[in-house]
Parts: sequence; C-alpha cells; structure tokens
Amino acid sequence: MAIKTGEEYRQRVLKRKPKVYLGGNRVNSLMENPTTRSVIEANVQVYELAQRPEYQDVMTAKSHLSEDIINRNLHIHQCIDDLDKRAGMALLTAQKLGTCNYRCPGCDMLSAMASIAWEVDKKKKTEYYQRLMTYLEFLQKNDLVLSGATTDTKGDRSKRPSEQDPDMYVHIVDRKSDGIVVRGAKQHQSGAYAADETMVLTGLACHKGEEDYAIAFAIPTGSPGMSYICQYNPYTAERENTDDLSYLGNPIYGQRETCLIIFDNVFVPWERVFLCGEIEYTQQLIARFAKMHRMNCGGACKVGFIDLIIGATALTAEYAGISKMPHVMDKITSMVNIRETVSACSLAAAFKGREEPQGSGIWLPDDAYSNAAKLNVSTGFWQVMALAADIVGGLVATMPHERELENPEIKQYAKKYLKAASSAEKRLRIAKFLQHWVAGLHGASTWHGSGSTQAQMITLYRITDFEEKKRLAKDLAGIKD
Ligand SMILES: Cc1cc2nc3c(=O)[nH]c(=O)nc-3n(C[C@H](O)[C@H](O)[C@H](O)COP(=O)(O)OP(=O)(O)OC[C@H]3O[C@@H](n4cnc5c(N)ncnc54)[C@H](O)[C@@H]3O)c2cc1C
Repeated sequence: MAIKTGEEYRQRVLKRKPKVYLGGNRVNSLMENPTTRSVIEANVQVYELAQRPEYQDVMTAKSHLSEDIINRNLHIHQCIDDLDKRAGMALLTAQKLGTCNYRCPGCDMLSAMASIAWEVDKKKKTEYYQRLMTYLEFLQKNDLVLSGATTDTKGDRSKRPSEQDPDMYVHIVDRKSDGIVVRGAKQHQSGAYAADETMVLTGLACHKGEEDYAIAFAIPTGSPGMSYICQYNPYTAERENTDDLSYLGNPIYGQRETCLIIFDNVFVPWERVFLCGEIEYTQQLIARFAKMHRMNCGGACKVGFIDLIIGATALTAEYAGISKMPHVMDKITSMVNIRETVSACSLAAAFKGREEPQGSGIWLPDDAYSNAAKLNVSTGFWQVMALAADIVGGLVATMPHERELENPEIKQYAKKYLKAASSAEKRLRIAKFLQHWVAGLHGASTWHGSGSTQAQMITLYRITDFEEKKRLAKDLAGIKD
C-alpha cells in the first residue's frame, strides 16, 4: 500500500536530527519545539486527509508508474482531471490547515521537472527522465514528504553570479565520478526541515558560462553539509511563550513556517541529479514550475485561506450584531467576488492545461490563467485583509489576551466590556483568529510566495499575442496599412 499514515511519518521525523536553528538556538527535537511541531502536525493532517474516504478522490491518485494508489502530492499529472484535482487538493488543504500544505512546492516541481527531463533526454540522449522516475517510484512507494527549493538568496539582484559572491546561487563546486558537490543556500523554504526529502531546482535562467548553476537534484533532509535557519517573528515568540496553544488563533498549524537551507559542500549522487549544465532548459524549467505553483499555491490555496477569512469575518459580524447591515453585507460580498475571481483563474488554468511536451504524457496548466490567478490574488488578498479588518473593528489590533477572561482580579470587567451580541469569549477567539490573517504575515507571504508580482507581469506580457489584438482592433476601426 503506497498510502502511509501520519503516525508513520511522525516516527520517521523522530529518528532524524537535522541541524535546525530557531531564535539563535539549535532545535534538539522538532517534535517538542512548538514552532517546528506545527509543521509536523500540518504534514500529519495531510496524510490523514488522504486516509479519509470523503477526500480520497482529491487527495490520492493512481500512479502512472505502478498503478498503485498514491498520495496526490507525489503524482505526475496525466490529464486535465488530474490538474483539476491538484488544484482541488490545494484548496482543501488550505481550508483544513489555514497554513501551507508543505508538500505543495515539491509536488509542483515533480511534474515540471518530469516535463523538462523528458524533453532534454529526447534532444540530448541523456537519462534524466528515467532517473527521475526511479526516484519518483521510491517517493511513491514510501509516501514521503517532498519539499521544493528554488529560491536562491541571490545577493545583489542587479548582478549575475560571476559578478558577486558565487554562492549567492546554489551551484556545482565539484564534479566527481559518483556525483556532484553543491554549495549555496535556498531561502524561504516552506517546512523543509520536517520533510523527508527536498527537490532543488535552479532559480536562475542561466546564460552561457553559468553551466554550474543549471542544476536540479533531490537530497534527503539533514544530509551532511545541510543546515536550516528558521524564520522568527512575533508569532514565533508568542508560540514559544505560552503553555496553552489554544489562544493562538491557529493553535495546531500556526503560521506558514519557512527556513533558509544552507548547502555547504553537499554531495549529491548522480542518480539524484536531474539537470546538470543544460543552461538552455533552465528558463523553461522555472516557467513550468512557476505556472504549476501559481495555479495551486498562488491560486487555489489562497482561495482556501480567503474562505477562512470570509467565514471568520461573517462570524465576527454576527458576534458584533452588524451582520445584517447593508454595507457589511456588501463588503463580505466583495470578499466573495475576489475569492471567485481567483478561483476561476485557477480552475481555468487546470481546464485549459495541455500535454507538455506533446507525447510526454505529462500535463501542465495554462500559462496565462495560472499567472493571472497569482497576480489577482496578490492584490486581492490585501483587499480581503482590509475588508475583514474593517468589519472586525479595532479589536483585531487592540484585543487583550483571552486569559483576562479568567483573571480573578478583572474578569468581571473583561467579560462585561468585551461582550457584544455574543460573549466576550467568542469575540476574542475569532478576533485572534482574524489577527493571524489580517495583522500577521499572510499579506506579504501571499504577495511573494510563488513569485513576486513582477514575475507574473513579465510572463503575461511575454506570452500575450499583442499583434493579434492589434489586428482585431485595426479590422474593426477600418485601418489599412
Ligand atoms: C511564505 C513564503 C513561502 C515560500 N515558500 C517557498 C518554498 O517552499 N520554496 C521556494 O523555493 N521558495 C519559496 N518562497 C519564495 C518565493 O518564491 C520568493 O519570495 C519570491 O520568488 C520572491 O523572491 P525574494 O523573496 O527573494 O524577493 P526579491 O527577489 O528580493 O524581490 C524583492 C523585489 O525586488 C524585485 N527584484 C528582484 N530581483 C530583481 C531583478 N533582477 N530586477 C528587477 N527587480 C528585481 C522584485 O520584483 C521585488 O519587487 C516562499 C516565499 C514566501 C514569502
């Protein structure tokens, strides 16, 4: 059986000791630290969703390699229905977790990488595709958590790697008979320390002379030379400094946790190398991963987050006694409109997907709709945050700790003055949940996750046929050249 349980995953994590640093200290136990544990619990929940009969259609798929039923996070999409269900999985996991499905970038890399490996092999007689399929069989058989790393630290963005410290982009420093040695770092890596494996893709559309940067490979978590430096923010401090997580808004799964992965002369055997020096394919590799990820992380996942914000905002309106006020209903409807627009782009990306390259059997989403999904959510999410903040009122920023409702010295005042059309308990609980979305990390995270907006603008400009549009306008306006 290729579907594993959350408990089996937990046991694997317990056995590993990757070098993870958080708040200036080494994390000795990923399970005991409340922040790193939130990533593990999110992964456990993704395993459990795949076990539940009502979600199996979305969360599982039939492997094209073994015909076994596998977790959809490890599936190479074979048709439009697969793309639709992939987007459906992003929506479902976002709704159930209120944070990342940390297997999402790795999942999106698999199909993009397979598509490029197939193409390179066909043109260059390499063996990347077969290597990748052997690796994929191993992942599927063991139902492993695969994270995905493409974002280099990049240093001075105006300079190419050779014009600055070359380690600003992950690159090959040595080629051996049995593999390559890589150095550099990947930043903003979602949940990587709690994954079983990480797939690493070049983040650079490489030029001639940059062959050492044109790489793709997979590596087990905590391999020699790898360290993980975790993000740290007020939400981390809050989580560290409480003995009762239930007050934290999203108690179990928390914030979207990321880290900086250091690769200090890390050895990768050839059987795990899927691109090595083929600079002419790097731009396409990035673009194919980006459109997968923009349909899912940029589109469907954020639709799930918006569902949570809309639900919490509707509750807060009820609790305050304003749910039937026309302007409140209008504002909530505007949130729904943004939600449906992003959802439509994401679904259109799936339904307009195509086999790429033809004959490969690998299906990828439509370029324009996937980029439009991400671009719309980047601005739409700020609007949703603003509308929610308007309706919840200043309480979202000024609320006291829920514990004041149990503090014998002042609880009678806290309960009396913080109640509205509902109890103070309910108001504070949902306001805290909204604080997590409205006054937290999610606006900036949504903007940059799966690529800052300029990347989508460039793509949309590049792929749009402006000549065709000019011709249409000229025809109707009666302009003859
Ligand atoms: C919550 C979160 C989770 C993420 N998870 C993952 C993950 O799991 N795996 C992964 O690989 N990545 C992940 N990312 C990374 C994400 O894809 C990047 O944040 C995004 O690509 C932007 O890169 P950056 O953060 O380095 O921003 P920067 O590149 O520093 O961009 C900042 C600004 O500089 C501009 N800029 C940058 N370079 C240039 C240039 N050369 N010319 C002109 N303008 C430029 C940008 O347009 C932008 O306006 C995650 C990000 C977030 C926020």
